[in-house]
Amino acid sequence: MAKLEYAEDGRILFTEEMKKEYTVLVPQMAPYHFDYLVYAMRSEGYKAELLTSDDYELIHEGMKYSHNDICVPAMLVIGQFIDALKKRKHDIHKVALIIAQTGGGCRASNYIKILRKALKKAHMEFVPVISLNAGGLEKNPGFRVRPRLIHKMHDALLFGDTVMTLIHQIRPYEKEKGACERLKAEIDKDVEAYYQHRFPLTWGRSKRLCDSIIERFQAIETEKTPRPKVGIVGEIYVKYSPLGNNRLEKTLENEGVEVVIPPLYDFFLYSFDSRAHDIKRYGGPRRERWILKFLVAYIEFWRERTRKKIEKSGFERPVSYKKLKSLSRGFIDVGTHIGEGWLLTAEMIDLIEHGAPNIVCTQPFGCLPNHIVGKGMIKKLKNHSPQSNIVPIDYDTSASKINQLNRITLMVSNAFRNFESERG
Ligand code: SF4
Repeated sequence: MAKLEYAEDGRILFTEEMKKEYTVLVPQMAPYHFDYLVYAMRSEGYKAELLTSDDYELIHEGMKYSHNDICVPAMLVIGQFIDALKKRKHDIHKVALIIAQTGGGCRASNYIKILRKALKKAHMEFVPVISLNAGGLEKNPGFRVRPRLIHKMHDALLFGDTVMTLIHQIRPYEKEKGACERLKAEIDKDVEAYYQHRFPLTWGRSKRLCDSIIERFQAIETEKTPRPKVGIVGEIYVKYSPLGNNRLEKTLENEGVEVVIPPLYDFFLYSFDSRAHDIKRYGGPRRERWILKFLVAYIEFWRERTRKKIEKSGFERPVSYKKLKSLSRGFIDVGTHIGEGWLLTAEMIDLIEHGAPNIVCTQPFGCLPNHIVGKGMIKKLKNHSPQSNIVPIDYDTSASKINQLNRITLMVSNAFRNFESERG
């Protein structure tokens, strides 16, 4: 069995030996993307496994092993990890955990330390925790974010965003119920096979798979009875995670609307761009700034190709990152990047301008940064666009689901009323 080694700061290192023996548990956040990210990790030799549990015990474990002041996303992720470890599906002496560390001014930078504290409290402090970060915050000899892994993750995000965008535009209108879900299951298998290929990283293969995803969705038969569109924005975890937002996407689709969720990739571009912005304004390594700027331009080049194909296939294309950023002008400064920063406001403006003035702004209870750039901007947006119909919803492990549902239902009934009166 791999010997435990420690870093200078006392944390347990994830070693090369552990890479061969240990299962790396990945918490679920975005169901359209994380399966693909796990396939990408497996293709790099990690025994990665996605945690999918979402029962009450998990919430209970999170509350038990973290404190009341901590953000809801941290509590749920910690709960999911502890719950999985306690259920002993794996030998807990051969398991490691991976968690993102943003490195920004928000509390998300410290989730990893809170997780280690929780493991200690649960008498499992020997479980190594890997930090997934782009800024070299914590290093592990057995886990390196090499260009090849970055490239594979890029593909995973691109595929995930494409599938998510198309499903939302087709599922409410499909003639044969379940067609989208069946196709998604097939595509999941194709993406897994894509990563198992000897040469997954060729532009041609990535492009062909992306094009085939779009073409196969285009072939699904639909009947277009127009419906109001409802956007979901907010703090990244509660925006995408069904566990964090009490299955908001499903709730809204059951109410009969078309859901619009902005692409996950924009958050990553926003993070790179924010770092480049800080270096320019406050100083820092110029080389890093140029690398980040190149990365944003390179990723956008590939995304633009996909967006064009989506548009040519008769679907609504997501807006470019540059355009999204420009939308925030006059509303909020682009130097605001604690939490989701200007991105959250810009996404709401984009939705309003593109036919989805009905918006659920999801916020973890007590999340100050996103209350400022989300809830705090609603009045300004309403003054600018009177047709906007935005409801801020706080998500908390002890919040009343009925209360959340009542407010969402009220927003949806306003959406239907406005939609009907617009159509005359
Ligand atoms: S964005 Fe909000 S929920 Fe996320 S770490 Fe910051 S304060 Fe916590």
